[in-house]
Amino acid sequence: MLSPSAIEDEQGLAVLALRTPTLPPATATNTSFVGRRDVWVVDPATPFDAPRDQLLSAVRALPATGRRAVGIVLTHHHGDHMGAAAWLREAAGLPVYAHPRTAELLGSMLRVDETLEEGAELRGSEADDDRWAVLHTPGHASGHIVLWEAERRRMIAGDMVAGIGTILVEAPDGHMATYIAQLERLADLGPERLVPAHGPVLADGQAKLRETAAHRLMREQRVVEALEEGPGDLVQLTARSYPELARPMLPLAARSCLAHLQKLCEEGRARLSGEVYEPS
Ligand SMILES: [Zn+2]
Repeated sequence: MLSPSAIEDEQGLAVLALRTPTLPPATATNTSFVGRRDVWVVDPATPFDAPRDQLLSAVRALPATGRRAVGIVLTHHHGDHMGAAAWLREAAGLPVYAHPRTAELLGSMLRVDETLEEGAELRGSEADDDRWAVLHTPGHASGHIVLWEAERRRMIAGDMVAGIGTILVEAPDGHMATYIAQLERLADLGPERLVPAHGPVLADGQAKLRETAAHRLMREQRVVEALEEGPGDLVQLTARSYPELARPMLPLAARSCLAHLQKLCEEGRARLSGEVYEPS
């Protein structure tokens, strides 16, 4: 059905890794084809001509195998998830689906035709293992959704976990406490096969979700320890909590550090006076 570079699954799930300008070291976004007969194209994002041709060929090849594309689904509003949505809507005549919050954040950048909220279901066919539940999973992005197929325990996880690189949680749209709670909720479902937005498809999704939550809590502990060394502003606390990082990486780490500090303040474990954080 798809090109030789696609990751194939006979059971109505195929993944194309298409080049995007995303957060290094990742260099591509996974565009998933979900459904055995009616196919949902999740996160078409590439702005480049050659991978766009590949994507459109894959969509156009569906009818030859008794399938058809029925819609574009966006996991969230970030550019490396929606960069080909308007183009594919035009080229293939497909409506764009996303969470109402994503529609709001996209505003005039991209029109969302249909909204998807927690509890909605996308059907690929009448088969029991072709029902994809929509889960609203804010934290990385406030309108983030995940698709969950409970029979075969498959999950399209978007940017909840990274198969390669790391997931940035950035205030104000990102929220660390919410993100960690949603990771735990998804892990509790017990997913097996999991498609992250970046990197290879994972066989043990539950382990990856738990590992990602544990990693965030380990990072949080480092920020707690940095605070215990004494009050400091964001730059100082970032340098203390990420001593292993090269200087050019520190601004990125500061965004993550800020999300952790915000969580600690909300929990009454830190407080901010002026620009200086201190333990409380
Ligand atoms: Zn994202």
